[in-house]
Amino acid sequence: MRDRGELRDMLINSLPENAIQWDHKATSIDAFETNQYEVKFANGRAFRADVLIGADGAWSKVRPLMTTAKPEYSDTCFNEIAYPADGREAERLAVAIGTGTLVTTAPGKGIIAHRNADSSISGYVALNKPESWIRSIDFSHAQNSRELVYAQFKGRSEQLVDFITMSTLAKPTIRPIFALPVGHDWSRKVGITLIGDATHLMSPFAGEGANLAMYDGADLAGAIIANPNDLEQAILTYELALFERTLDVARMSAENLRLFFGETAPHSVVDLFSGLFSPET
Ligand SMILES: Cc1cc2nc3c(=O)[nH]c(=O)nc-3n(C[C@H](O)[C@H](O)[C@H](O)COP(=O)(O)OP(=O)(O)OC[C@H]3O[C@@H](n4cnc5c(N)ncnc54)[C@H](O)[C@@H]3O)c2cc1C
Repeated sequence: MRDRGELRDMLINSLPENAIQWDHKATSIDAFETNQYEVKFANGRAFRADVLIGADGAWSKVRPLMTTAKPEYSDTCFNEIAYPADGREAERLAVAIGTGTLVTTAPGKGIIAHRNADSSISGYVALNKPESWIRSIDFSHAQNSRELVYAQFKGRSEQLVDFITMSTLAKPTIRPIFALPVGHDWSRKVGITLIGDATHLMSPFAGEGANLAMYDGADLAGAIIANPNDLEQAILTYELALFERTLDVARMSAENLRLFFGETAPHSVVDLFSGLFSPET
């Protein structure tokens, strides 16, 4: 997580002061016939805008103004694991990871862990489980939840199960993987659009979510700069390119999730990476 924190700080520090208004949680958005939008915040403030860009992630409050598409649970959930750089756990587990990323998969389960720049380790234990299973566990109780997750890996290599039992996270977060339907889109509505996960939430298995989010922002900015007097044209140009570039990535990410934790794992993952890195490609 540390590398992500550093990247986040770099991006935030590159912005003009006050570009971000912290502590403004949007609670509702109203659309008016004048094609204006009013956003109300939990702190009691509100503003009206002629153009509203929803960059508010998976559970976007802006998206329902444009489409009825909703994120759907993928049947895979991630349980966070982590080990500090200076702990004996990281030293021991690093042997299995090397300097990059460890991926182990089997039908319905897997462990993914990577070394951060400061040598700490973070990762996920992935499980294919129904939402009812997730809701039945108190993940705030680290020891209990670790034991329940560990139970799914009984009989596996000791070196691998150590990734679960030695995690030092006091409050492991469970992350059910949701995705928007592949290929969903919307009809143009004046003065409103979406970027990032708000528009194309997908499983992390194309490795493109953050890239796409940043690309969307840059692309929309470029379209506005190119059409300074016609914002509708700018948004239309942006959206046409957005739908096109997103479709294949969303499809790949859904397919890869199946390859990682479906019935054919781990051979399907070996085939996937062999194809990606074969001399012909
Ligand atoms: C377990 C996991 C692993 C992942 N691994 C990778 C990876 O390896 N590579 C990769 O590229 N992508 C990965 N992703 C995906 C990546 O995290 C997302 O695609 C990316 O963060 C999308 O950026 P975003 O800015 O659109 O949304 P977010 O990062 O979700 O940002 C949305 C922002 O909106 C704010 N917000 C939300 N609601 C409101 C509200 N009501 N009012 C005010 N603010 C609000 C949030 O606080 C947040 O700051 C992973 C995702 C998960 C869940």
